[in-house]
Order: sequence, then C-alpha cells, then structure tokens
Amino acid sequence: MNRRKFLTTATITSAAIAFEGCNESNRQAIDYSKHPKKSDATKHININRNKKTVIKLATSWPAHFPIMGTGVEKFAQRVKDVSGGSLEIKIYPKNVLVPALAVFDACSSGQIDAFHSGPYYWKGKNSAFSLFSGVPFGFTAEEINSWMLFGDGLSLWREQYAKYNLHPFLGGNTNIQMGGWFRKPINSLKDMQGLKMRIPGLGGEVFSKMGVNPILLPAGEIYTSLERGVIDATEWVGPALDIKMGFYKVAPYYYSGWHEPGSILELTFNKQSWGKLAFEHQSIIEVCASEMNANMTSEFHHDNIYALEKLKGLGVTLGHFPEDVNDAGKKALKIVMNELSEKNSDFAKVAQSIESYLKLSKAWSDVSLGHFLNER
Ligand code: CA
Repeated sequence: MNRRKFLTTATITSAAIAFEGCNESNRQAIDYSKHPKKSDATKHININRNKKTVIKLATSWPAHFPIMGTGVEKFAQRVKDVSGGSLEIKIYPKNVLVPALAVFDACSSGQIDAFHSGPYYWKGKNSAFSLFSGVPFGFTAEEINSWMLFGDGLSLWREQYAKYNLHPFLGGNTNIQMGGWFRKPINSLKDMQGLKMRIPGLGGEVFSKMGVNPILLPAGEIYTSLERGVIDATEWVGPALDIKMGFYKVAPYYYSGWHEPGSILELTFNKQSWGKLAFEHQSIIEVCASEMNANMTSEFHHDNIYALEKLKGLGVTLGHFPEDVNDAGKKALKIVMNELSEKNSDFAKVAQSIESYLKLSKAWSDVSLGHFLNER
C-alpha cells in the first residue's frame, strides 16, 4: 500500500470509528432532548416571583472552608443572582443542622433537600460509591469529568443513588492529590511495612495490602497524632489545604502520589425536592453546578501552585515513592478491585465501566498530555 492510499484509508477508518463512538456516547449531564421546545417553553416558566423557593443544603465542611466550603457558597450566590432572587439555597455547614457525615442519610430521608460532600464517604452503604470519587492510578480530573458527562459515569451514579432516593450532580474536583506527609523518608517498600498512616477510601485499602496500617482520624486530630508519633504519615489533599494543617512542621517529607488522582465532589438532591422544583429553577441549578464543578477544579490548581512555592521555603523535602512502592500499589489495586467486585455486583458493574473507559482514555492521554508534560 502506498503512503497516500494508507493515509486515506486510515483517515476514513478513524472517522468511522469516531462517528460510531459518537453514536454510542451517552451524554448524560444535561439531557436537552427532555427540555421543552421553544414554542412551548413559556409554559414551563411557572415561577411565582413573589414567592421565594428555599432549599436547605447541608455540607460536610466547616463554614467558609477553603475551596470546598467557599465554592458551594459561591454556587448558592450564583443561583440566587441568576434566578433573580426567586431561588435561595440556604447552606448549613457541618454539624449546624446535621453532622458532617450524616448528610447522606438526612437528604435521603428528606430532612434536608440537598448536600455537598464526597461520594467516597458513603462506601459503608455501598462499596460502589467510592468509585464515583475516583480510583487509585485511575482518572485525572479531566478524565473523570469526561467519563461522568459523556460516558456512563453519571447515569451509573444516578442509578445507584436512586435506590437511596437521591439525585447527584458533579460538585467540584480536588484535582490531583499529593501522596502524603511522612516523618521519615521512604526509600523502599520495606519502609512502608507497619507504617501507621491516616489514609481513607480505596487508597487506604490499597495501602493496607502493601503492608501499611491505615488509620482513620477526624481532621482535628491528625496534626497532634503526627506530632506525637501516634501516626507516622498522613495524606490530606494538596498544598493549598495541607499548608493550613501545618503538617510540614512535624512530617517534612512530602511525596507525590497516585491514590487520589482527581477526586469528585458531589452536589446531591433528595429526589422529591428536586422533582418539586420549577423547570426553570432546575435549569439554573444545572448551569450553576456545572460552573461550580469547573471553578473548583481550577481553584485547587491555582491555590496549589502558590502554596507549593511557600512550602518549598518552609524546609519541606519534596519527593515521590520509589518504584517498588508504585509497583506494589498497582498489584494491590488489582487485588482490592477484584475482591470488592466479587463481593458486590454494583461495584463490579461500575468498576467494569471505569476499566474499559480508562483503557481508551489512557491511550489518548499518554500520547497527548503525558508526552507533552514530559517534554515541557
Ligand atoms: Ca485525600
């Protein structure tokens, strides 16, 4: 085959595959086909502007907590502004109306209309929920958004949450997280054996299979436990939030990681509360939630770059895990995913979708962004 002919064939084949892929893609974020046609759109403008609709939203964060807390506050303000004041989202920070980790149940039962939190907190209800936050060595923030919005992610998430009378939306992303703070350097897998580390979620289960002793601690107890040597290491989020916790003073080895490469945050509604909203209000929430999701991801990136500069001036030793730790992590992940898939068919179904999407996504990300970042 001459080169010209080969290129033509390759182009046509790629176009055919792309077209086929396009047909198969399942655009879930906002289903415009269900929206009213222009001619009868006015029928759906059914808001009584003299009567304000108020939504009770509880969060898992303290009031004004950087990025996650302030992000949801900005979202509420935008909803109020865009709706001309006809829709108000009243925010209840953690423990004001319900405890931080009781928001899921409170929303499911209708005590509150909505909550802002993270799906991995609910893995005790169904291990599949942890997958909607992300997977170690899995999707980046951009990739998980693609899977959620244009792949099967959001429809699978909504199918699972519907069993709990809940209707979720993307509500932000922490962007890639750091591997954690260590009191002593990690030079090989041997140094991880028996290490007491605060690390929750799927990451914690993977670390456990690698010989680490994962410990769960409330945020307020992590610093003191690290200082006193009750724990040897902790992960948190990334420079922007970690610097405020002061971990650098007692555990100066700060390692890049792979356990939370792009963790999703959620804005979730009680199904009846969502269904009762006027169509116009639902649309306003969809648009403002989409803005919150994009802005929070960028805000984490922005604040991380400045916080990292500061940390460098505070005696922090930046590093990354040695290869034997990374290899052991990949092996441990396979075991954890297989075990959880065998125990829970919901987990298996979501994990299968992630695995097949990630395979394709990785092929593209590696030749594009991966290559570029290496060269840059
Ligand atoms: Ca974390």
